[in-house]
Amino acid sequence: QVLNEFLQLKGSIRVFCRIRPTINGENYSHKKPVVPMDSNGIVLNFTENKTKLYNFDQVFHPDSSQNEVFSEVEPVIKSALDGYNVCILAYGQTGTGKTFTMEGNQDCPGVVPRTIEALFKQAADSNHKFVFSFSMLEIYLGHLKDLLVPQARKTTDPMPPCLNIQTDPNGGIVIENLVAIQVSNFNHAISLYRLGSQFRSTASTNSNKVSSRSHCMIRMSMTCSDATERRKITNKIWMVDLGGSERVLKTKASGRRFEEGKAINLSLSALGDVINALQRKNSHIPYRNSKLTQVLKDSLGEDSKTLMLVHVSPKEEDLCETVCSLNFALRLR
Ligand code: ADP
Ligand code: MG
Repeated sequence: QVLNEFLQLKGSIRVFCRIRPTINGENYSHKKPVVPMDSNGIVLNFTENKTKLYNFDQVFHPDSSQNEVFSEVEPVIKSALDGYNVCILAYGQTGTGKTFTMEGNQDCPGVVPRTIEALFKQAADSNHKFVFSFSMLEIYLGHLKDLLVPQARKTTDPMPPCLNIQTDPNGGIVIENLVAIQVSNFNHAISLYRLGSQFRSTASTNSNKVSSRSHCMIRMSMTCSDATERRKITNKIWMVDLGGSERVLKTKASGRRFEEGKAINLSLSALGDVINALQRKNSHIPYRNSKLTQVLKDSLGEDSKTLMLVHVSPKEEDLCETVCSLNFALRLR
């Protein structure tokens, strides 16, 4: 019922929180800092007598499955096939499970493969004819890098050719020269996704051995024509594995790592500002403050659906970052 309401609302956003389980050998101190409450709340335990409750549209507990997560995501796939632009965003500190949620692994596929599968399946069952195309890009140090273009893949090249963002006469966003490959089935789309994933900018940071210091963005565009093929509608679904939200000043990063962190921090706060302004129905929406929000301009806001999946760590030592992430989420609702 709640989902039906959501589908009927224009320009709506839903905010979910996923708590990572403890993994291989991590052990807890005496108390748990992050405690899920039923399916909508999280309690943070700062000290014995200082706690705070945060509310979400949905909370995924440490033992929630990829299936459970996807069942909450699935309604927006129908929205996309109905002509809405859709954004699914994974936010959180490095190591909290963003990539696990979006990409998953062989045994537990994540939101991206499941969404692609569901798009093809639902399109096949519909009365309309859909043509899909797949694109994949990365925003690294404020530059857009096409992950499907060979020369852009050389990770040794610090500044591969970058793409420009234009606006078409209808207010739609066009990323100049971004490769969009027509895909007619799941396996084709997934093979492109695998290819693109290999070329993300990854590097060691103090927060995590291998972490993504960029935003990774997958776009499935769909063009729908009616039986006469006279009327065509094109829209898209973005699936975004955002860069780690940890504050750069706390990570003891220096040099390039520091610049990467700073770029990520700035674009994440620009994203928060845009969604906050949309929720408040402000007359000015500050899309121009980052490449991330420029790319997503026509997919955030009116006539679009946004799902924000905020990821948090179960560890006490991460409590500061967890508070920041939950406060970020708080501003979006
Ligand atoms: P991020 O992309 O936010 O940096 P990852 O997705 O790489 O984080 O997750 C960090 C580690 O935790 C990985 O080894 C991942 O497999 C594991 N992990 C994260 N979330 C889960 C989960 N819900 N269930 C099992 N393992 C998880
Ligand atoms: Mg990751």
